[in-house]
Amino acid sequence: MADKKNYYEILGVDKKATPEEIKAAYRKLAMKYHPDRNPGNEEAAERFKEINEANETLSDEQKRAAYDYELEHPGMGGMGGMGGFDGFGGGAGFEDISDIFSSIFGGGFGGGSARTSRSFVGEDIQREMTLSFMDAAKGCKKTFSYTRNEPCASCRGTGAKDGTALSTCGKCQGRGIVQQVQNTMFGRTIRQMPCPDCGGTGKIIREKCPECKGKGSQRKETTVSFDIPAGVDTNSYIRKKGFGQAAPNGGTPGDLIIIFRVEPHKIFTRDKFDLKLDLPISYKTAALGGTVKVPTIDDTFEFTVPEGTQSGTIFTLRGKGIKSARGGTGNLILRVVVEVPTKLSRDQRKELEKLDDDLDLKQYEKMRRYSDNVETLYGEKPYVK
Ligand SMILES: [Zn+2]
Ligand SMILES: [Zn+2]
Repeated sequence: MADKKNYYEILGVDKKATPEEIKAAYRKLAMKYHPDRNPGNEEAAERFKEINEANETLSDEQKRAAYDYELEHPGMGGMGGMGGFDGFGGGAGFEDISDIFSSIFGGGFGGGSARTSRSFVGEDIQREMTLSFMDAAKGCKKTFSYTRNEPCASCRGTGAKDGTALSTCGKCQGRGIVQQVQNTMFGRTIRQMPCPDCGGTGKIIREKCPECKGKGSQRKETTVSFDIPAGVDTNSYIRKKGFGQAAPNGGTPGDLIIIFRVEPHKIFTRDKFDLKLDLPISYKTAALGGTVKVPTIDDTFEFTVPEGTQSGTIFTLRGKGIKSARGGTGNLILRVVVEVPTKLSRDQRKELEKLDDDLDLKQYEKMRRYSDNVETLYGEKPYVK
């Protein structure tokens, strides 16, 4: 967002401004800087454009929410390995942005509801990409192919031969807007609307570009490659600026937004940057202690299970989790699961019974407490040998 303007400052309103306040501020400024009132004034024209751009975003509840989010969460453009990205965000431990996504993309994303033809910005393209658990945890390089309307190189998206076979529209004198005067019972009103002859571009194509037949764009398979930083998670996304749909009349193409879906893993689960792992051990290891090899996302290490470890015990191993592209590394959280052997042979059965006979209830904590409590209640011993 480094190059993005602060729309609130442009409209001179507070970040908490109500829709009515925004509307009022926009109207006041739009009147002041309207090209009709400032003929030939480049600076005013530029301001007018900015004001409209700001209003287009801030007057739309969903766009404003998305804009506010980006304003507070600037992209990771400055980080090593992230070159070429204009934004990177998402749920990888930063916070859950699924709500933001459902508001940006929910229901009819791409419909281009509020975009006027005068803004000449192409539609964003949203795509999903599935990553393996390890690729997401460690980071990786990926290429992604998709089809889009690519700006025609031959006419620079204008649709006119060589990008130059254009003349100024006679109907609007190149302004792109026309005024419509209406007489109503409340008096005369003047309405601005995009010029119907030139579609708001202010220019008429004299000779069509032979490559794109005047459309300014061509349907093409596009391939992008990018580095995915370590630690992305489901709902993390990247934004590739300018890789969306071509804009009409040589405007700015939209962005490509790739949202990641991370596949589950056979043994690991994730909680943000913490890795979680169930560690099954035998009855004997739990009682006497022992060493077990435990995997991380890079390799294995030897973990010593202490003597007398109960099933369900959790060990937190600092810094053995997932690296975050924003700094820091999560932990590895081991949960001990004591597994009871099944299908014992006759001899093993006997050995186990003998061992159990030798053990005293005093050597157990939970069983002893349970036994005492049941006995207090009903005078009966629950464990019958
Ligand atoms: Zn026109
Ligand atoms: Zn062309």
